[in-house]
Amino acid sequence: MDKKNYTLTDLSVIKRVMGEHGVTFSKGLGQNFLVNPTVCPKMAEAVRESTDNKTGVLEIGAGVGVLTKELLERCDKVVCVELDTRLFPVLNDTLSGYENLTLINGDILKIDLKKVIAEHFDGMEVFVCANLPYYITSPVIMRLLEEKLPFKKIIVMVQKEAGDRLCAKVGTRESGAVTVAVNYYAKARKLFDVSRGSFFPSPKVDSCVIELDLTQKGDYPVIDEKLFFQTVKAAFSQRRKTVLNALSSGMGIEKSKIAQAVKNAGVSENARAEALTMEQLVNLSNEIFKVKD
Ligand code: SAH
Repeated sequence: MDKKNYTLTDLSVIKRVMGEHGVTFSKGLGQNFLVNPTVCPKMAEAVRESTDNKTGVLEIGAGVGVLTKELLERCDKVVCVELDTRLFPVLNDTLSGYENLTLINGDILKIDLKKVIAEHFDGMEVFVCANLPYYITSPVIMRLLEEKLPFKKIIVMVQKEAGDRLCAKVGTRESGAVTVAVNYYAKARKLFDVSRGSFFPSPKVDSCVIELDLTQKGDYPVIDEKLFFQTVKAAFSQRRKTVLNALSSGMGIEKSKIAQAVKNAGVSENARAEALTMEQLVNLSNEIFKVKD
């Protein structure tokens, strides 16, 4: 089949194609489609420029295929996981003729990603590139990181506030549990801002594109990874409390033991989670590991 040369950032084109297939936008699924023509080429270029090797890209949520198309033009293989089956006839139309595309109907939080990677990206460097559905930003990013999948970089559009938090420096006011998690697995940085007017329908918030580079991971001597993330979660879940109080109430471990661990880790009893460095959080979880039973 021939490739169609639809301009997928042109609202009248989007409306016509969706209308032809009887599809309407679903706000609930985070469907705000990009109508600014410069954004997707920039995202796809960011992937392309990251490697000279064969490139496989996992996309999450195709919409009408605006980013998918830019990725297909530049990369060897694109697999896109899309939840909304109503979009499939639209995508088969807008992306017809691209033989390097596989569309999978599924939920990115549930699908077996190891299998997807093994089946489609053999011998390639693998990237994630997506305009994320914002209602699941943190769970998606956490899943992509925690499963230790062989991604080189994750390049995604997120809400500006989420981007600021993900790229914050650990130990500053902007940092949170997700900042620590991201830092543990990757190096995060913002690539560029995207204004709310770049979308249709225009959302109430601005966005940005961030990059998580999994090849630039810090080396943290964590004894028990699960306990480390429990510690981080408990410490940040009550940000206004001291670390001692937040951990005592959040971890189901006696306060005296937590106090001992806090002391052994060289952390002040009055410190709050947001003031702690990566090294202090690692020490803290390792000391809790030693006193917990
Ligand atoms: N990439 C497109 C669309 C982004 S909107 C663009 O840039 O315009 C987010 C997309 O994610 C929508 O297509 C929505 O249907 C899809 N989506 C929402 N929840 C999902 C989930 N759990 N798994 C996979 N896709 C999902």
